[in-house]
Amino acid sequence: MEPRFACTACGKCCHGLLPLTLTDAVAHAVRFPLALVWTVVRSNAKSYDLATRLGTSVRLPNRKTVAVLIQPSAYLPNHFPCPALQPDNLCGIHSDKPSRCRTMPFYPYREEKDQADLLVPRKGWECDVSAEAPVVYRNHAILDRTNFDRERAELLEQAPVMRTYADYVLKYMPWIVNDLAKMAAAPAGGKLVTSLSSFLTATRRTDARELAAAQAPLMQAMAERTRTDPALADLHKNYAGWAKEMERLAQRP
Ligand code: SF4
Ligand code: SF4
Repeated sequence: MEPRFACTACGKCCHGLLPLTLTDAVAHAVRFPLALVWTVVRSNAKSYDLATRLGTSVRLPNRKTVAVLIQPSAYLPNHFPCPALQPDNLCGIHSDKPSRCRTMPFYPYREEKDQADLLVPRKGWECDVSAEAPVVYRNHAILDRTNFDRERAELLEQAPVMRTYADYVLKYMPWIVNDLAKMAAAPAGGKLVTSLSSFLTATRRTDARELAAAQAPLMQAMAERTRTDPALADLHKNYAGWAKEMERLAQRP
């Protein structure tokens, strides 16, 4: 049977971490609290070769090499709605929404031939996969590939920048290699988060001050929203620390 899919705009997937292209992260810096999210892809994974092209390769202390994706992301607790999600569950920035949202449910960090299981809605999601929904994927190929191709092209274009950032982090924060090794060894993998300020410093962006000025109040607001929940203590610590970093960066001459 051919996979069918239509979005019913239930808003259920508009919660938690949202990976962005670098272009989208910059364009939405006044809206999303941003961080860099690192994910290890082991050498036996289907998407390993693609991950080495979109991310970077890291040699671990045990001499194994893994691919590491570094995704600029809207950094939100899993159950927090996207700031652009309206009370009616529609996207408040529909005509301007990020590539990641446009390409859903496909995911250009995976090879195109390996997208079929993304068309099975996760528990609680209300995507229409009935016989009335349009066929969107046939013979391991995406039928309307405009958004997928655009997002993939942006990811390939930004890859050298992400590699520059990875080199910086691994040089100045060498303990991160050990964290990556732990993630590579853990059955469930894991994610590592680094700050936008480290990215802005490493890549010497000329718009660093403007981006920091946009981020400072968002980080402060998130620090406040996560202040009293013990389950969010680690995120709260990040938001509070990054708010100060962003304030300092925004005021730099
Ligand atoms: S930008 Fe719009 S579509 Fe994307 S996660 Fe937010 S509310 Fe959902
Ligand atoms: S969960 Fe499915 S139906 Fe709901 S907004 Fe996301 S893609 Fe659309």
